[in-house]
Amino acid sequence: MTCLICAGHAESVECVAGWEERHCSQCGSYRMSQTLVLVMMEEGQIFDTPRMREWLTTRRGCVSIPSIEPHHAILVT
Ligand SMILES: [Zn+2]
Repeated sequence: MTCLICAGHAESVECVAGWEERHCSQCGSYRMSQTLVLVMMEEGQIFDTPRMREWLTTRRGCVSIPSIEPHHAILVT
């Protein structure tokens, strides 16, 4: 499986419906909304990897596995 943020190698983990969970050695563990994954694919968008990793690090102060929803996505413009 590939990481949805950096496209590196990541482990895919079973999780609740509507979400994709990945454990990436570079980005760590996170959940991503399948809606967001589909929009990204359809529109050919890519994440701003360093800024998403920073966002994940910040979120981990509150939760162990951050959930990334469409309004959290930081994209390369
Ligand atoms: Zn990654």
